Amino acid sequence: MTEVDEVLIKCAGCGEKGKVETHWSPELFQYGTDDDPNKQLFCISIPVRVCRSCNLQFTDEVAEKLKDGLAKTWAKDTKRNKSA
Ligand SMILES: [Zn+2]
Repeated sequence: MTEVDEVLIKCAGCGEKGKVETHWSPELFQYGTDDDPNKQLFCISIPVRVCRSCNLQFTDEVAEKLKDGLAKTWAKDTKRNKSA
């Protein structure tokens, strides 16, 4: 699946605006440390920015916010399940 953002994103490499495309790509990330018994592995779709000008691929704070939001939601649910 390929989506192009309507917002003009500035390239983290060359600084060009309007040449950056967004490709949604699945990524695995772990919540919690390796020795944490409650650690959880998530698969999440994050927007990967690809610059048509310099071919740089990068992720920005949107990806971080998505991961953060998912981790927080999961942590909240886990707490609620434990206290129930
Ligand atoms: Zn660039």
